[in-house]
This record gives sequence, structure tokens and C-alpha cells, in this order.
Amino acid sequence: MLGHLVSDDAAAMALALQQASLALGHDDVPVGAIIVRNGVVIAARHNERELTGDPTAHAEVLAIRDAAEHIGHWRLEHCTLYVTLEPCTMCAGALVNSRVPRVVYGASDPKAGAGGSVYNVLSDARLNHRCDITSGPMQHECGTILREFFAKRRKAPAPTDSAATDTGD
Ligand SMILES: [Zn+2]
Repeated sequence: MLGHLVSDDAAAMALALQQASLALGHDDVPVGAIIVRNGVVIAARHNERELTGDPTAHAEVLAIRDAAEHIGHWRLEHCTLYVTLEPCTMCAGALVNSRVPRVVYGASDPKAGAGGSVYNVLSDARLNHRCDITSGPMQHECGTILREFFAKRRKAPAPTDSAATDTGD
């Protein structure tokens, strides 16, 4: 996936969705993110919170770290981050701090989204950087993989109620 050329938002989101499906392999909430710079995929990650036991191992944070390493600088200029689910406050904060010019997300998160649904950390005039936001590409597919994951989890013995509703992003 790294080095792939992407032509438009839908093509990029399809790759993020592929990443999301990889999270299912270790029972993590299926959220995927890719970062595209000048049309080339430079980072592709998925949620690894369960896999690593790291509460900050959301797809966006991992992708930001990979992209910064690739570029050799913390400032992610000329980059667009694509993520299947609207970023949480932590990831939105990381995106502001990495100065990503543009963020595209698929499904909205009405419970915890920080791209406009609950908070708007990504484009708050009080912060020193604002990301352009596009929402909606492949939102149905991005939402369906999450709904199916949680439906399956509810059938299995759930560890706690909160874990069953926490989207992990
Ligand atoms: Zn997050």
C-alpha cells in the first residue's frame, strides 16, 4: 500500500478501509488511516489499541508518526490524512500539532467526534492551526464495518458495557 498513487478521495478512502479491515485480525475496533503526500501514500495504519495495549495507538496517531518519520520532520506539509471514522479529541489534537493541511473522514462519530460532531478541534479558531475537513467519502462502508464489529461483539460475552460502546477512536 505504501507508495501507491491515489487519484481522488474515494480511492484514498478505499485504502483506509482496507487498513480498517486489518484491525479485525487482532480484535481491534476497525478504524484505518492513510496519509497521502503529493498523491502518494506515505503512511497506512490501523487501530492497534488491543494489539499493543497502548491507549494512544489509534490509526491516526500511528499514521502521523510514520509520515513524520518518512518526511523527516514533524510538520506534515502537503499531506492529507484519510481516516474511516471521524477523529477523536486525541487524534484531532495530534493532527493540529502536526499541521496537517487537510483531513478527510468517512463515517461521523456522533458520540466522540472532534471533527465537528461533538467538538471541532480540527478547525477551532482559537488554535494556531486549522485543518480543512471533508467528511463523507465511503461513509456507508466505513460505518458498516464498525456496526458489524460491534454487533458481533455484543453477541459474544462482553467484558464490560463501556468496552462494547467505546469505538476506540
Ligand atoms: Zn483517535
